[in-house]
Amino acid sequence: MNAYLKSVPDENGFFGDYGGAMLPPVLEPHFKEITEAYGRISKSAEFIKDLRYIRKHFQGRPTPVSHLRNLSEICGGAQIYAKREDLNHTGAHKLNHCMAEALLARHMGKTKLIAETGAGQHGVALATAAAYFGMECEIHMGEIDIEKEAPNVTRMKLLGCTVVPVGFGGRSLKEAVDSAFQSYVPQADHALFAIGSVVGPHPFPKMVRDFQHVVGIEAREQFLEMTGELPDMVGACVGGGSNAMGLFSGFMDDRSVALYGVEPMGTSSNLGDHAATISFGEDGEIHGFRTMVLKDANGDPAPVHTVASGLDYPGVGPEHAYLHRQGRVTYTTADDKEALDAFYALSRHEGIIPALESAHAIAFAMREARLNPGKSILVNLSGRGDKDIDYVTETYGFGDS
Ligand SMILES: *Cc1c(COP(=O)(O)O)cnc(C)c1O
Repeated sequence: MNAYLKSVPDENGFFGDYGGAMLPPVLEPHFKEITEAYGRISKSAEFIKDLRYIRKHFQGRPTPVSHLRNLSEICGGAQIYAKREDLNHTGAHKLNHCMAEALLARHMGKTKLIAETGAGQHGVALATAAAYFGMECEIHMGEIDIEKEAPNVTRMKLLGCTVVPVGFGGRSLKEAVDSAFQSYVPQADHALFAIGSVVGPHPFPKMVRDFQHVVGIEAREQFLEMTGELPDMVGACVGGGSNAMGLFSGFMDDRSVALYGVEPMGTSSNLGDHAATISFGEDGEIHGFRTMVLKDANGDPAPVHTVASGLDYPGVGPEHAYLHRQGRVTYTTADDKEALDAFYALSRHEGIIPALESAHAIAFAMREARLNPGKSILVNLSGRGDKDIDYVTETYGFGDS
């Protein structure tokens, strides 16, 4: 583990002013239990050995780094490289922390996993982990999302998971979180709550980052082996921020490497049209932790929009708010149109159909490549785009280049 990772968070889960655990009293003892178990079990030789085995023989790690030669040539300027998390089993980085969370649950003697899901990506990854370990899985999902994301609901059911429809309030992610926590409390003796990004109360921002660190470790070593140097720029899309923390954490101590988080600008910079929390938000509290938040006129979390449903969150992981304040990471944006252009370009010119979330990172790389001749840019291709092809082609066609 590098020096940076040891430096934050502190024992209460704070990254400077951000993070922590602001919990209702009924949840406090359960999060304490998870924090204690994580601290103890994740360092044990047996846990480390089990996780290595799973990564290699089930997930198919290490995933490669690919030099995107055609795209680099078209953009003219910098050389673009991608860390291929689209080739991780289930087609995205989320399985990295879900398998580890499930393994932790197993070592804690738990038999069930509980979580909420928005677009269903976290639900599918967690249901996959539950099936692997022979555990029960209960995923809470808003009725509106269930209708919108039917294929992911089918996947979860095939994987043996119980999908609990949430029909109150806005019937979406926020209500699904409340519903999942409510169901967890009376089951906490035999169930683990498993959060899907570097968000939520301590210890999840730290735990999920540490489980995603493998992406950065692999990428740094692979890039060095391919080119003999470190990349000049490293970028990743930021929703909650887990794929970005995974990649960034491998380069945090390399001061020559500039790090970039790419937030979704949606259709415009007006509140409600984007989900660029660090670019436009302010300090606040959401879902039990301190971070930056996009707020409406009443100070409540604002409605957000982006073409990539996995980036659709009015908060952000506390470590990103911290890294923004420290100046170690620069936060920038890509809008829906830039992401779609990148989606088509990577498909057409490299033979890789990216997730719309990851297309934001590709859009960033294409833009920066033109401006930085002679440099190298490594981005996280956090997931594959199979889930998005129907939506994209029905809404926008097949692209024109
Ligand atoms: C969920 C998801 C994201 C966003 O989550 P982070 O925690 O910000 O990484 C990005 N890419 C893909 C493919 C996803 O499924």
